[in-house]
Amino acid sequence: METEVLRVLASDSENCAAVRRAGALIRAGRLVAFPTETVYGLGANGFDRVACARIYEAKGRPSDNPLILHVAGRAMVEEAAAGIPPMAEKLMAAFMPGPLTLILPRKPLVPDRITGGLDTVGIRAPEHPVARALIRAAGVPIAAPSANRSGRPSPTTASSVLRDMEGRIPLILDGGTCRVGIESTIVDCTGAVATILRPGAITREMLTEVLGGCNLDPALVGAKTVPRAPGMKYRHYAPKADMTLYCGAPAKMAAAFRREVRRLLKEGRKPGVLASHETCSGVAGLLPESRVRDYGAQGDLSAIASHIYEGLIAFDATDADVLLAEGVAEGGLGLAIMNRLRKASGGRVRELA
Ligand code: AMP
Ligand code: MG
Repeated sequence: METEVLRVLASDSENCAAVRRAGALIRAGRLVAFPTETVYGLGANGFDRVACARIYEAKGRPSDNPLILHVAGRAMVEEAAAGIPPMAEKLMAAFMPGPLTLILPRKPLVPDRITGGLDTVGIRAPEHPVARALIRAAGVPIAAPSANRSGRPSPTTASSVLRDMEGRIPLILDGGTCRVGIESTIVDCTGAVATILRPGAITREMLTEVLGGCNLDPALVGAKTVPRAPGMKYRHYAPKADMTLYCGAPAKMAAAFRREVRRLLKEGRKPGVLASHETCSGVAGLLPESRVRDYGAQGDLSAIASHIYEGLIAFDATDADVLLAEGVAEGGLGLAIMNRLRKASGGRVRELA
């Protein structure tokens, strides 16, 4: 199958032939990749189980890993959710549309295929104008995971979607680079207290301010329990070369990276570095430019979140055979960044003394 890429300007998305075409493809049971403010999604009609099955096939996704339903507004939430608990009302008022997914009790109308057989459904209203226009054009909620092959880093540009999905889907809407750069925060609203199942740009601190309290799934902080978001148990976001994540005081990073890079070079390895501007400056001159990815200034967490996936993907086009990544402090958006970097490193984490 030929994969077409059509550019859509955010300012023109309501009235755009490409979006109308994409909406018609969704209604016809086909797959369309589209931009959101978090990462690119791979969308299908959320009420069509055959169309949703195609998502699993195109991604190579395990069938127990449920999909998030993307909606255009409250009316579509009510179509899919069997009830909206008071905490979800508060979160919708504060953060919808935006990078927040609510886990709610589901209606029978929602196919088992997208919930992995759970009696709940994940629902999010994206704020990206192209995503909103597409959902309206389709006229149905759009089930969409990230538009990468399963296990690979999520794409934040149309060209990264094309690299993973070429020949597997008919259409990619290109809306430029995603602003947030990591997937939505997932909050389970079905218990007595809201629980974060996946950290994201809507931080625990922001949720606590609105709700007065908010738990973290213990599996996110190292407990040996099964994660309650089924997708969180899989190895994820992984670049092809093995990666080690370095944690510790920012001031110590540049010297530690220089030391590690020199050691690896002596062993005949070809290290790549994904790190802050400060740390990258410390290794400049030791490595070819293509193997040094500056993800933003130390402490600029929004910049870092928006650059980590493209950084990981970029190493796959180099001869790097081992990667070193710099960690951040886990407050605010740092919790989500560290969650993704930990997974990408497959648990290889070094604490700097
Ligand atoms: P992706 O969109 O590829 O980032 O994946 C969606 C994430 O949402 C996965 O980690 C899923 O396990 C999670 N998810 C979707 N629906 C539910 C649900 N009903 N309960 C818990 N987690 C969910
Ligand atoms: Mg994903």
